[in-house]
Amino acid sequence: MKNTFSLKVKDELSRLEPGNSCCLRSELLGFLRAGAVLEVGQSGIQVIATTESPSVVRRAFMLLKRTSSLKVKISCEPRRIHNHNLYAVRLFMQPGLKEFLKRLGYLRSDTDLEKTVIPRKGCCRRAYLRGFFLGAGSMTNPERYYHLELVTGSRKHAAHLIRILRVFDLHARRVERKERQVVYLKEGDEIAAFLTVIGAVKSRLDFENVRVVKGVRNHVNRVVNCETANLNKTVKAACRQLGAIRFLVGRVGLDALPQPLQEVARLRLEQPEATLKELGLQLDPPLGKSGVNHRLRRLEEIAAGLKAQQKKVFR
Ligand SMILES: [Zn+2]
Repeated sequence: MKNTFSLKVKDELSRLEPGNSCCLRSELLGFLRAGAVLEVGQSGIQVIATTESPSVVRRAFMLLKRTSSLKVKISCEPRRIHNHNLYAVRLFMQPGLKEFLKRLGYLRSDTDLEKTVIPRKGCCRRAYLRGFFLGAGSMTNPERYYHLELVTGSRKHAAHLIRILRVFDLHARRVERKERQVVYLKEGDEIAAFLTVIGAVKSRLDFENVRVVKGVRNHVNRVVNCETANLNKTVKAACRQLGAIRFLVGRVGLDALPQPLQEVARLRLEQPEATLKELGLQLDPPLGKSGVNHRLRRLEEIAAGLKAQQKKVFR
């Protein structure tokens, strides 16, 4: 099952009280910008947003009904992804559609997407982020590792998201993936704070619980794994890497190392159990397995070099 935590967060968000009317519009704008496609045909425009979450579809329907008198069509698409049905919200061509979308800030002209309007008020910014997460957000199950992302096709929207997040003291980064802009957070504390900002308070508590349990388990695993005689190759390598990195931390500090090595070293320290592939995916830009392996080997070499020097001095 894919991304169950994401779906739980979306489920919670979809059940929140609708809030102020200014916020309803902001949430809808965020949702449409993130998840909707504008189709321009001969007979006019239509807007379609798809999601695998039935609660998100209900939320979108509610937002549209409360902010407009437009006709909204909901359907369950026959296509299935990852064993979830795909639901669609459709705003087909009808009188008042363009005007509504322009007022909302989704459209600039009759067929051009507006790229600049972002909400001013704090409450609306939270709502905008919530809508965006509902439309194109996801996070990994925290049992695995910490990663939350918002995806958009527009560089400008990505830049806006980063700016809005900074208002809430969240320092997101951006990476391009298959011509999409991915704005992401990967610190556990920041993901927890983001969940609070968008109103997913219960999910935040669940997230914290996982972190506590995982912290304890990781610690125990680290002690057990590294001290067991029968280690498999991967664990052995991770132990060796950790040993080298901890030595470097104590001896010269990570800041003394070149930036690319620092990043990998920090990730390895935070996630002793992650595979090279998982570590690589969290780098900006992402790095393949062999690239991560190369950097970790460099770290081990540097540590070995320093240890050799140390021996000479004390001989
Ligand atoms: Zn508001």
